[in-house]
Order: sequence, then structure tokens, then C-alpha cells
Amino acid sequence: MRVAIAGAGLAGLSCAKYLVDAGHTPIVVEARDVLGGKVAAWQDEDGDWYETGLHIFFGAYRNMRQLIQELDIEDRLQWKSHSMIFNQRQTPGTYSRFDFPDLPAPFNGLAAILGNNDLLTWPEKISFGLGLVPAMLRGQGYVEECDKYSWTEWLKLHNIPERVNDEVFIAMAKALNFIDPDEISSTVVLTALNRFLQEQDGSQMAFLDGNPPQRLCQPIVDYVVARGGEVHLDSPMRQIELAPDASVSGFRIGGIKGKQGYSLQADAYVSALPVDPFKLLLPEAWASIPFFQKLSGLNGVPVINIHLWFDRKLTDIDHLLFSRSPLLSVYADMSNTCKEYADPDRSMLELVFAPAKDWIHRSDEDIVAATLSELEKLFPQHFGSDDQAKLRKFKVVKTPLSVYKTVPGCQQLRPDQTSPIANFFLAGDYTMQRYLASMEGAVLSGKLCAAAVSASPLAAPQAAQAKPVAV
Ligand SMILES: Cc1cc2nc3c(=O)[nH]c(=O)nc-3n(C[C@H](O)[C@H](O)[C@H](O)COP(=O)(O)OP(=O)(O)OC[C@H]3O[C@@H](n4cnc5c(N)ncnc54)[C@H](O)[C@@H]3O)c2cc1C
Repeated sequence: MRVAIAGAGLAGLSCAKYLVDAGHTPIVVEARDVLGGKVAAWQDEDGDWYETGLHIFFGAYRNMRQLIQELDIEDRLQWKSHSMIFNQRQTPGTYSRFDFPDLPAPFNGLAAILGNNDLLTWPEKISFGLGLVPAMLRGQGYVEECDKYSWTEWLKLHNIPERVNDEVFIAMAKALNFIDPDEISSTVVLTALNRFLQEQDGSQMAFLDGNPPQRLCQPIVDYVVARGGEVHLDSPMRQIELAPDASVSGFRIGGIKGKQGYSLQADAYVSALPVDPFKLLLPEAWASIPFFQKLSGLNGVPVINIHLWFDRKLTDIDHLLFSRSPLLSVYADMSNTCKEYADPDRSMLELVFAPAKDWIHRSDEDIVAATLSELEKLFPQHFGSDDQAKLRKFKVVKTPLSVYKTVPGCQQLRPDQTSPIANFFLAGDYTMQRYLASMEGAVLSGKLCAAAVSASPLAAPQAAQAKPVAV
């Protein structure tokens, strides 16, 4: 069966991969000239890479890890020590660590929390631990029920002191969805905590060994193309063309860079677009269908990714760091954490600037100046003295509408991969799967979408030859 897929982010590519595995022929069309969507990256005039986002892979990412294993590129994930490292606000330039010992879950997580006395007091740890008991005992059902509360409301409901938010969860909420705990749904935080506490390696982190388009996306494309699929860049889907019965008759592909526009015809059609551009392309005839109407409540959140190249080493820490700065979320010295970006003498900091709603329209220079003043607190030894670290160059990548903003009530708005239109399916991190808006969520959504296409009546004539998609 020919399946047209719009969008070559991780969701679209994963969908294509699992469709070829099932014996189908995916044709992926991507609007931009680069693979990866929110993991896209570019090279500057010196050959240095800059990225849409600083990306961390977690041990809990079972579907991503399986995909990477199937592509035979497991050596590209650089696993770091099993720890979480927070900057200390009161003592600039120092760190507080949560170290996970080599024990089965949840004992390694409990030991990491109990072993950290810098951030939380014993009464705070105990009240927080007790609050988590229902999530651990009642599992995902309870976690989903909590979507009506923001994380701050959930903490209040469990009489957990506000200081727990200030010390740990402002940093965590910003890392998970680029927003603060009074906005983020408690389902998001509880889902992450559940994975971290229930899987021994769930919170262990890895960095990709280089730029994501070449090191992660291209192997998926090679796999798909070697098995008869197609992936076309510079091919924006401009319109979902409809047959008289409101099913899809084609994807209208815009002609750009001297190419002719055309109508892409297939047996089944997948949108692997982010939710915001998909809503703009929604055909009028579908607008009153509740499945599509609900999407109006899902909206991308702004975020900014900053790259700062310095004339010297600022740190030798080879890990993700939680800045606990009011302007910044997580950051890493990529000259230590990523093989392709390695530099033994000079740092390249990649920093996520969030929440970004008040900054997304400001100039790059303003954003960098604000970031540098935060660095005085993170690296006091290198700033504020006569021998100041010098910024060699910078790149700022703004994403005004990134992953959907996970405010309370969103879980019920997330669509299934199977739509009410018989030959039309959805993939994307915003679609319903248990990993929220993440690389793992995108990969899982693509896999679920491929399974839905394969299991649909459209595939019936081929069912005898096709292999099922295992999910
Ligand atoms: C700053 C930042 C940091 C992040 N950090 C992490 C992290 O540490 N860990 C983690 O797991 N996740 C992280 N994420 C989230 C993660 O990147 C996303 O959840 C995931 O990559 C989304 O994949 P997707 O395929 O669903 O969507 P996208 O990656 O957005 O892919 C959609 C694709 O559709 C294309 N498209 C749009 N319109 C059209 C059209 N009309 N025709 C054809 N193609 C079109 C786009 O160009 C894009 O390539 C981060 C995201 C950002 C922005």
C-alpha cells in the first residue's frame, strides 16, 4: 500500500520506518530542506553546528532505543553518569547532585532523593514522598486523572510545601515543557516521575554523539529508502485535497526552488505535522467534526535555544545541568557532552531559554545579553573579574510554536492516530501516546500510526502479505 506522509520529523520518519517493516511503501514529503523538525540542526560558516533544541535521551525512552537498535546505531548514544545535577542558587558556581546508585527501582530513586540534603529538608522529602504514593500504587490511571490540576495545585492538594516547587520543580517543569509549575499539568510531571521511579535506568540521560539530522534522522531515511520508500525535502504540503465523500484524494505539494507543484496520490495519508500547522491546513469539510475541533485547545509553546562559543573552558562537567535561573532552563557544555562538538580547550554552551513568551520577539542581541548576565551566577569564576571569558560567537534559534503547551485539561484533547476519515491518520508528539511531547512520544506516535494504517480496512487486500507492526 502507498502511504503519503507529510512531515519528516521523528514522528513522520518513525511512521515511515514501521510502514516499510510492515511491507508498505511510504512517501514522506517535508516542507523544509532539512530533516528532523524540532531536532533539525544547521552548520554555520565555520562548520559549527547549531540546533533547534538541546536534546536529551532518557533510559525510559524504550521505543526510541528500540528504533536506534533496529537501525544498528546504538553506539551513537553517549550515556552519562546516572545523576541529575542542579545549580545551587544561594552559592553561585556550585552544584547539588542527585546520584542514582546501582540498585533496582524504586530504591535507586529513593536513595538519590534521600541522599540529597542541599535542596530539600527531611520533612519536605517525607511529605513529597507520601504525596507520590497514589501515583506509584495506582499507576497511569491516577496520573491521567490528575490532568485537571496544575503541578502547583497538585502540590497544594497534598500539603507539600511551596519550597519543593522553588527548589526542584520550577527547573523540572521548564525542562519538561518550557513553562512554570503553575501552568504545567500535573499529569506531565507525574508521568516523568513515575517512569523515573519505576524503571531502574528511567532517568539516566544520554546525548547523541553529533548533529541529529545526520546522526539520527538520516539512518531512518536510508533504512526506508533501501526498502522502497521515498523521502523528499523542499516539498511542503499546501492542501489536503478531498474527494466528494470528504475522504482524502491527494496531498497538494507546493512547487518551491524551481520544482513543479503536484498532487501526491496514495492509498492512505498521514499528517506528521506539528499541531499548529496542521490546524491551518484542516479542510473546511472536517472543521465541524469533534475529533478535529478539539485540536483548537492544543497550541505550541514558545522556546529559544542558545549557543554560546567561548574562548576558554568554563567547566569540565560532562552532563546536563539544571540552571535554576529565572530565564534559563537546562544547559550543557556541548564541547564535553557531544563527540562531534568536542573541543578540549574551549566551551560551547547550549542553553534552553524558557519560559520564552516575553522574549521570543526580542532581538538575538538582547537575548544573549540577558543570558550572559545569568552566566555570571552559573560561572562566577569566569565572569565579573578582569580575566573575563570572551564570547567568540553566538547563535539563537527561536521556535515560536514548539511542542504543545501541556496545560491542565489537554490530555482529553489529544487525538488518536486513527481519525474519523477512513484514509487519513495522524502522527506527531501531540497525538495520544503515553510519553507526552518528546522525542520518545514522536517515535511512539509514528509507530502507533503505522500500526493503525496497517490494521485499517484499507490494508485488507494486502493483509495476507503484510507483517503486523508490533507495538
Ligand atoms: C528547544 C527544544 C528542546 C527539546 N528538548 C527535548 C529533549 O531534551 N528530549 C526530548 O525527548 N524532546 C525534546 N524536545 C521535544 C522534541 O524535539 C519533539 O517532541 C519532537 O522532536 C517532535 O517530533 P514530531 O515529529 O512530532 O514534530 P516535528 O519535529 O515538529 O516534525 C514535524 C515536521 O513537519 C514539517 N512540516 C510542517 N508543515 C509542513 C507541511 N505543510 N508540509 C510538509 N512538512 C511540514 C516540519 O518542517 C517538521 O519537519 C525539545 C524540543 C525543543 C524545541
